[in-house]
Amino acid sequence: MSRVFNFSAGPAVLPLEVLEQARAEIPDWQGSGMSVMEVSHRSKAFIAVAEEAEADLRELMGIPDDYAVMFLQGGATMQFALLPMNLSQPGETVDYLVTGSWSKKACKEAQVVRNARVVADGAESSYTDVPARDNWQLDPDAAYFHYTPNETIGGVEIHDVPDVGDVPILADMSSTILSRPVDVSRFGVIYAGAQKNIGPAGLTVVIMRRDLVERTADDLPSIMRYKSHADGGSMLNTPPTFSWYLAGLVFKWLKAQGGIAGIGERNRRKAESLYAAIDASDFFANPVARDYRSWVNVPFTLAKPDLDGAFLAQAEAAGLMNLKGHRSVGGMRASIYNAMSEEGVRALIDFMAEFERTHA
Ligand SMILES: *Cc1c(COP(=O)(O)O)cnc(C)c1O
Repeated sequence: MSRVFNFSAGPAVLPLEVLEQARAEIPDWQGSGMSVMEVSHRSKAFIAVAEEAEADLRELMGIPDDYAVMFLQGGATMQFALLPMNLSQPGETVDYLVTGSWSKKACKEAQVVRNARVVADGAESSYTDVPARDNWQLDPDAAYFHYTPNETIGGVEIHDVPDVGDVPILADMSSTILSRPVDVSRFGVIYAGAQKNIGPAGLTVVIMRRDLVERTADDLPSIMRYKSHADGGSMLNTPPTFSWYLAGLVFKWLKAQGGIAGIGERNRRKAESLYAAIDASDFFANPVARDYRSWVNVPFTLAKPDLDGAFLAQAEAAGLMNLKGHRSVGGMRASIYNAMSEEGVRALIDFMAEFERTHA
Protein backbone atom coordinates (compact mmCIF):
# COMPACT_ATOMS: atom_id res chain seq x y z
CA MET A 1 0.00 0.00 0.00
CA SER A 2 1.23 3.49 -0.71
CA ARG A 3 -0.29 6.63 0.78
CA VAL A 4 0.45 10.05 -0.68
CA PHE A 5 0.57 13.40 1.10
CA ASN A 6 -2.88 14.79 0.28
CA PHE A 7 -3.15 18.59 0.50
CA SER A 8 -6.78 18.68 -0.71
CA ALA A 9 -8.97 21.47 0.70
CA GLY A 10 -11.91 19.11 1.07
CA PRO A 11 -12.94 16.38 1.14
CA ALA A 12 -9.57 16.09 2.77
CA VAL A 13 -7.03 13.69 4.24
CA LEU A 14 -8.16 11.46 7.11
CA PRO A 15 -5.87 9.83 9.68
CA LEU A 16 -4.52 6.50 8.39
CA GLU A 17 -5.16 4.88 11.81
CA VAL A 18 -8.84 5.79 11.49
CA LEU A 19 -9.12 4.41 7.95
CA GLU A 20 -7.46 1.17 9.04
CA GLN A 21 -9.76 0.77 12.00
CA ALA A 22 -12.80 1.38 9.81
CA ARG A 23 -11.54 -1.11 7.25
CA ALA A 24 -11.02 -3.76 9.91
CA GLU A 25 -14.50 -3.18 11.33
CA ILE A 26 -16.46 -3.05 8.09
CA PRO A 27 -17.41 -6.71 7.54
CA ASP A 28 -18.24 -7.54 11.15
CA TRP A 29 -18.84 -4.50 13.33
CA GLN A 30 -18.76 -5.21 17.09
CA GLY A 31 -19.45 -8.89 16.45
CA SER A 32 -22.79 -8.12 14.79
CA GLY A 33 -21.95 -9.88 11.54
CA MET A 34 -22.86 -6.60 9.79
CA SER A 35 -21.13 -3.36 9.01
CA VAL A 36 -22.07 -0.18 10.82
CA MET A 37 -23.62 0.96 7.53
CA GLU A 38 -26.12 -1.89 7.66
CA VAL A 39 -27.62 -1.40 11.12
CA SER A 40 -30.58 0.70 12.18
CA HIS A 41 -29.77 4.20 13.35
CA ARG A 42 -32.19 3.47 16.18
CA SER A 43 -30.42 0.30 17.29
CA LYS A 44 -28.79 0.29 20.73
CA ALA A 45 -25.38 -0.23 19.19
CA PHE A 46 -25.62 2.73 16.86
CA ILE A 47 -27.15 5.03 19.47
CA ALA A 48 -24.13 4.23 21.66
CA VAL A 49 -21.80 5.28 18.82
CA ALA A 50 -23.75 8.47 18.24
CA GLU A 51 -23.79 9.43 21.91
CA GLU A 52 -20.12 8.65 22.38
CA ALA A 53 -19.20 10.80 19.38
CA GLU A 54 -21.14 13.70 20.87
CA ALA A 55 -19.56 13.19 24.30
CA ASP A 56 -16.06 13.08 22.80
CA LEU A 57 -16.70 16.23 20.73
CA ARG A 58 -17.99 17.99 23.84
CA GLU A 59 -14.88 16.98 25.75
CA LEU A 60 -12.49 17.94 22.93
CA MET A 61 -13.98 21.40 22.39
CA GLY A 62 -15.08 22.04 25.95
CA ILE A 63 -18.68 22.57 24.85
CA PRO A 64 -20.75 23.80 27.81
CA ASP A 65 -23.94 21.97 28.81
CA ASP A 66 -26.13 24.86 27.74
CA TYR A 67 -25.22 24.14 24.11
CA ALA A 68 -26.94 21.58 21.88
CA VAL A 69 -24.79 19.54 19.49
CA MET A 70 -26.44 18.37 16.27
CA PHE A 71 -25.21 15.95 13.61
CA LEU A 72 -27.04 17.01 10.47
CA GLN A 73 -26.94 16.76 6.68
CA GLY A 74 -26.90 19.36 3.94
CA GLY A 75 -23.40 20.68 4.48
CA ALA A 76 -22.43 24.15 5.61
CA THR A 77 -24.38 25.45 2.61
CA MET A 78 -27.67 24.22 4.06
CA GLN A 79 -26.90 26.11 7.26
CA PHE A 80 -26.35 29.30 5.20
CA ALA A 81 -30.09 29.06 4.43
CA LEU A 82 -31.41 27.61 7.70
CA LEU A 83 -29.65 29.97 10.11
CA PRO A 84 -31.42 33.17 8.95
CA MET A 85 -34.75 31.31 8.65
CA ASN A 86 -34.49 29.93 12.17
CA LEU A 87 -32.72 32.64 14.12
CA SER A 88 -34.31 35.82 12.82
CA GLN A 89 -37.78 37.10 12.13
CA PRO A 90 -38.98 38.76 8.94
CA GLY A 91 -38.23 42.47 9.29
CA GLU A 92 -35.18 41.93 11.52
CA THR A 93 -31.69 42.55 10.21
CA VAL A 94 -28.83 40.07 10.34
CA ASP A 95 -25.17 41.17 10.10
CA TYR A 96 -22.50 39.54 7.94
CA LEU A 97 -18.76 40.16 7.81
CA VAL A 98 -17.51 39.38 4.29
CA THR A 99 -13.89 38.22 4.17
CA GLY A 100 -13.90 35.92 1.14
CA SER A 101 -15.87 33.43 -0.95
CA TRP A 102 -17.59 31.50 1.81
CA SER A 103 -18.77 34.43 3.91
CA LYS A 104 -19.98 36.11 0.73
CA LYS A 105 -22.03 33.00 -0.14
CA ALA A 106 -23.44 32.78 3.37
CA CYS A 107 -24.52 36.42 3.16
CA LYS A 108 -26.07 35.98 -0.29
CA GLU A 109 -28.16 33.08 0.90
CA ALA A 110 -29.35 35.05 3.91
CA GLN A 111 -30.32 37.92 1.62
CA VAL A 112 -32.81 35.63 -0.10
CA VAL A 113 -34.93 35.50 3.05
CA ARG A 114 -33.83 38.41 5.27
CA ASN A 115 -32.38 41.88 5.38
CA ALA A 116 -28.78 40.68 5.57
CA ARG A 117 -26.36 43.60 5.97
CA VAL A 118 -22.70 43.54 5.02
CA VAL A 119 -20.95 45.12 8.02
CA ALA A 120 -17.62 45.27 6.18
CA ASP A 121 -16.22 43.72 3.02
CA GLY A 122 -12.60 42.80 2.30
CA ALA A 123 -13.04 43.26 -1.47
CA GLU A 124 -10.71 46.28 -1.51
CA SER A 125 -7.78 44.05 -0.55
CA SER A 126 -9.00 41.30 -2.91
CA TYR A 127 -9.78 39.41 0.31
CA THR A 128 -6.15 39.19 1.39
CA ASP A 129 -6.88 41.30 4.47
CA VAL A 130 -9.73 41.79 6.95
CA PRO A 131 -11.30 45.26 7.28
CA ALA A 132 -10.27 46.93 10.56
CA ARG A 133 -12.73 46.30 13.38
CA ASP A 134 -13.21 50.07 13.87
CA ASN A 135 -14.75 50.32 10.40
CA TRP A 136 -17.39 47.61 10.82
CA GLN A 137 -20.92 49.01 10.56
CA LEU A 138 -22.60 46.78 13.13
CA ASP A 139 -26.32 46.99 13.90
CA PRO A 140 -26.71 46.63 17.68
CA ASP A 141 -30.26 45.35 17.06
CA ALA A 142 -29.26 42.68 14.54
CA ALA A 143 -30.61 39.21 15.33
CA TYR A 144 -27.05 37.89 14.98
CA PHE A 145 -23.58 38.56 13.59
CA HIS A 146 -22.15 35.98 11.18
CA TYR A 147 -18.56 35.49 10.11
CA THR A 148 -16.23 32.87 8.66
CA PRO A 149 -13.23 32.49 11.00
CA ASN A 150 -11.26 30.73 8.27
CA GLU A 151 -11.79 31.41 4.58
CA THR A 152 -10.79 28.09 3.05
CA ILE A 153 -10.22 29.45 -0.46
CA GLY A 154 -8.38 32.70 0.30
CA GLY A 155 -6.45 31.37 3.30
CA VAL A 156 -7.59 34.24 5.54
CA GLU A 157 -8.10 33.38 9.21
CA ILE A 158 -9.37 35.64 11.98
CA HIS A 159 -7.42 34.42 14.99
CA ASP A 160 -9.40 36.13 17.76
CA VAL A 161 -13.15 36.08 18.28
CA PRO A 162 -14.40 39.59 17.42
CA ASP A 163 -16.16 41.68 20.04
CA VAL A 164 -19.61 42.57 18.73
CA GLY A 165 -21.34 43.40 21.99
CA ASP A 166 -24.41 41.38 22.97
CA VAL A 167 -25.35 40.20 19.48
CA PRO A 168 -25.00 36.39 19.18
CA ILE A 169 -22.03 35.34 17.03
CA LEU A 170 -22.58 32.68 14.36
CA ALA A 171 -19.41 31.14 12.90
CA ASP A 172 -18.86 28.94 9.88
CA MET A 173 -15.92 26.88 11.13
CA SER A 174 -15.99 24.31 8.33
CA SER A 175 -12.24 24.41 7.79
CA THR A 176 -10.97 25.46 11.21
CA ILE A 177 -13.08 23.48 13.71
CA LEU A 178 -10.92 21.27 15.95
CA SER A 179 -7.69 22.76 14.57
CA ARG A 180 -6.99 24.80 17.73
CA PRO A 181 -8.67 25.60 21.05
CA VAL A 182 -11.71 27.93 20.92
CA ASP A 183 -13.85 29.35 23.69
CA VAL A 184 -17.23 27.96 22.63
CA SER A 185 -19.04 30.17 25.16
CA ARG A 186 -18.22 33.21 23.01
CA PHE A 187 -20.47 31.88 20.24
CA GLY A 188 -24.18 31.55 19.65
CA VAL A 189 -23.65 28.99 16.89
CA ILE A 190 -20.63 27.13 15.54
CA TYR A 191 -21.20 24.99 12.46
CA ALA A 192 -18.99 22.99 10.12
CA GLY A 193 -19.28 20.64 7.18
CA ALA A 194 -17.37 17.53 8.23
CA GLN A 195 -15.30 16.94 5.12
CA LYS A 196 -12.34 19.16 6.04
CA ASN A 197 -11.37 18.50 9.60
CA ILE A 198 -13.93 16.08 11.06
CA GLY A 199 -14.61 13.12 8.80
CA PRO A 200 -16.30 12.16 5.53
CA ALA A 201 -18.67 14.39 3.57
CA GLY A 202 -22.37 14.10 4.28
CA LEU A 203 -22.24 15.18 7.91
CA THR A 204 -22.55 18.70 9.31
CA VAL A 205 -21.93 19.54 12.95
CA VAL A 206 -24.00 22.36 14.46
CA ILE A 207 -23.27 23.56 18.00
CA MET A 208 -25.98 25.95 19.18
CA ARG A 209 -26.61 27.71 22.48
CA ARG A 210 -29.84 26.30 23.85
CA ASP A 211 -31.62 29.64 24.24
CA LEU A 212 -31.14 30.12 20.49
CA VAL A 213 -32.43 26.61 19.83
CA GLU A 214 -35.53 27.53 21.79
CA ARG A 215 -35.86 30.76 19.85
CA THR A 216 -35.89 29.04 16.44
CA ALA A 217 -38.90 29.86 14.28
CA ASP A 218 -41.84 27.45 14.56
CA ASP A 219 -43.38 28.24 11.17
CA LEU A 220 -40.93 25.98 9.37
CA PRO A 221 -41.26 22.32 8.38
CA SER A 222 -39.63 20.23 11.10
CA ILE A 223 -36.75 19.05 8.90
CA MET A 224 -35.71 22.70 8.58
CA ARG A 225 -36.03 23.55 12.28
CA TYR A 226 -33.05 23.28 14.58
CA LYS A 227 -35.31 22.75 17.56
CA SER A 228 -36.82 19.60 16.08
CA HIS A 229 -33.35 18.26 15.30
CA ALA A 230 -32.06 19.09 18.78
CA ASP A 231 -35.13 17.61 20.48
CA GLY A 232 -34.94 14.52 18.29
CA GLY A 233 -31.28 13.79 18.98
CA SER A 234 -30.45 14.52 15.32
CA MET A 235 -32.55 11.49 14.41
CA LEU A 236 -35.61 13.18 13.04
CA ASN A 237 -34.91 11.13 9.95
CA THR A 238 -32.10 8.75 9.02
CA PRO A 239 -28.79 10.48 9.78
CA PRO A 240 -25.58 9.85 7.79
CA THR A 241 -24.66 6.91 10.00
CA PHE A 242 -21.32 5.97 8.46
CA SER A 243 -20.06 9.56 8.50
CA TRP A 244 -21.17 9.93 12.12
CA TYR A 245 -19.39 6.70 13.07
CA LEU A 246 -16.22 7.75 11.27
CA ALA A 247 -16.31 11.21 12.87
CA GLY A 248 -16.45 9.38 16.20
CA LEU A 249 -13.27 7.49 15.31
CA VAL A 250 -11.59 10.78 14.36
CA PHE A 251 -12.58 12.26 17.75
CA LYS A 252 -10.94 9.29 19.51
CA TRP A 253 -7.84 9.79 17.37
CA LEU A 254 -7.76 13.48 18.31
CA LYS A 255 -7.95 12.61 21.99
CA ALA A 256 -4.97 10.32 21.51
CA GLN A 257 -3.04 13.22 19.90
CA GLY A 258 -3.26 15.26 23.10
CA GLY A 259 -6.66 16.72 22.32
CA ILE A 260 -7.13 20.10 20.70
CA ALA A 261 -4.31 21.70 22.67
CA GLY A 262 -1.89 19.08 21.35
CA ILE A 263 -3.12 19.15 17.79
CA GLY A 264 -3.24 22.96 17.89
CA GLU A 265 0.45 23.15 18.79
CA ARG A 266 1.27 20.79 15.95
CA ASN A 267 -0.86 22.86 13.55
CA ARG A 268 0.91 26.03 14.66
CA ARG A 269 4.32 24.45 13.97
CA LYS A 270 3.18 23.18 10.56
CA ALA A 271 1.86 26.59 9.50
CA GLU A 272 4.84 28.51 10.88
CA SER A 273 7.35 26.31 9.09
CA LEU A 274 5.53 26.55 5.76
CA TYR A 275 5.10 30.35 5.95
CA ALA A 276 8.74 30.71 7.03
CA ALA A 277 9.84 28.77 3.95
CA ILE A 278 7.62 30.90 1.69
CA ASP A 279 8.82 34.16 3.25
CA ALA A 280 12.47 33.16 3.00
CA SER A 281 12.11 32.54 -0.72
CA ASP A 282 12.05 35.05 -3.57
CA PHE A 283 10.31 32.49 -5.75
CA PHE A 284 7.22 31.71 -3.62
CA ALA A 285 4.83 34.24 -2.11
CA ASN A 286 1.73 34.24 0.10
CA PRO A 287 -0.60 37.19 -0.53
CA VAL A 288 -2.37 37.29 2.85
CA ALA A 289 -1.79 40.01 5.47
CA ARG A 290 0.44 38.51 8.14
CA ASP A 291 -2.04 38.91 10.99
CA TYR A 292 -4.64 36.92 9.09
CA ARG A 293 -2.70 34.03 7.67
CA SER A 294 -4.56 30.75 7.97
CA TRP A 295 -3.13 27.87 9.96
CA VAL A 296 -4.89 25.34 7.77
CA ASN A 297 -5.13 26.66 4.18
CA VAL A 298 -1.91 28.15 2.82
CA PRO A 299 -2.19 29.67 -0.67
CA PHE A 300 1.03 30.53 -2.47
CA THR A 301 2.09 31.71 -5.90
CA LEU A 302 5.17 31.11 -8.02
CA ALA A 303 7.22 34.07 -9.29
CA LYS A 304 6.90 32.49 -12.73
CA PRO A 305 3.24 31.44 -13.12
CA ASP A 306 4.06 29.67 -16.40
CA LEU A 307 5.77 27.08 -14.20
CA ASP A 308 2.55 26.27 -12.28
CA GLY A 309 1.90 23.20 -14.44
CA ALA A 310 5.43 21.88 -14.01
CA PHE A 311 5.27 22.49 -10.27
CA LEU A 312 2.04 20.53 -9.92
CA ALA A 313 3.21 17.68 -12.16
CA GLN A 314 6.51 17.27 -10.32
CA ALA A 315 4.79 17.56 -6.95
CA GLU A 316 2.41 14.76 -7.91
CA ALA A 317 5.31 12.62 -9.08
CA ALA A 318 6.81 13.16 -5.62
CA GLY A 319 3.56 12.07 -3.92
CA LEU A 320 2.42 15.59 -2.99
CA MET A 321 -1.16 15.75 -4.24
CA ASN A 322 -3.92 18.34 -4.75
CA LEU A 323 -1.81 21.47 -4.43
CA LYS A 324 -3.62 23.37 -7.19
CA GLY A 325 -5.17 26.59 -5.89
CA HIS A 326 -8.89 27.21 -6.17
CA ARG A 327 -9.95 28.17 -9.69
CA SER A 328 -11.06 31.60 -8.45
CA VAL A 329 -7.60 32.60 -7.14
CA GLY A 330 -5.13 30.44 -9.11
CA GLY A 331 -1.64 29.55 -7.91
CA MET A 332 -1.23 26.85 -5.28
CA ARG A 333 -2.91 26.02 -2.00
CA ALA A 334 -1.67 23.59 0.62
CA SER A 335 -4.40 22.52 3.02
CA ILE A 336 -2.73 21.22 6.14
CA TYR A 337 -5.59 20.07 8.36
CA ASN A 338 -5.21 17.95 11.49
CA ALA A 339 -4.57 14.72 9.61
CA MET A 340 -1.68 16.20 7.59
CA SER A 341 1.49 15.16 9.40
CA GLU A 342 4.49 17.37 10.12
CA GLU A 343 6.39 14.94 7.91
CA GLY A 344 4.05 15.83 5.02
CA VAL A 345 4.61 19.55 5.51
CA ARG A 346 8.39 18.99 5.66
CA ALA A 347 8.20 16.99 2.43
CA LEU A 348 6.37 19.89 0.78
CA ILE A 349 8.91 22.45 2.04
CA ASP A 350 11.81 20.29 0.80
CA PHE A 351 10.13 19.86 -2.58
CA MET A 352 9.55 23.62 -2.90
CA ALA A 353 13.19 24.37 -2.10
CA GLU A 354 14.38 21.87 -4.68
CA PHE A 355 11.96 23.23 -7.29
CA GLU A 356 13.19 26.77 -6.65
CA ARG A 357 16.82 25.64 -6.90
CA THR A 358 16.27 24.00 -10.25
CA HIS A 359 13.78 26.47 -11.82
CA ALA A 360 14.20 29.97 -10.34
C1 LIG B 1 -16.16 23.84 2.31
C2 LIG B 1 -16.78 25.01 2.97
C3 LIG B 1 -18.15 25.28 2.85
C4 LIG B 1 -19.08 24.44 2.01
O1 LIG B 1 -19.41 23.32 2.68
P1 LIG B 1 -20.49 22.26 2.14
O2 LIG B 1 -20.46 21.27 3.23
O3 LIG B 1 -19.99 21.76 0.82
O4 LIG B 1 -21.79 22.96 2.00
C5 LIG B 1 -18.66 26.36 3.52
N1 LIG B 1 -17.89 27.15 4.28
C6 LIG B 1 -16.56 26.92 4.42
C7 LIG B 1 -15.75 27.83 5.28
C8 LIG B 1 -15.97 25.85 3.76
O5 LIG B 1 -14.66 25.62 3.92
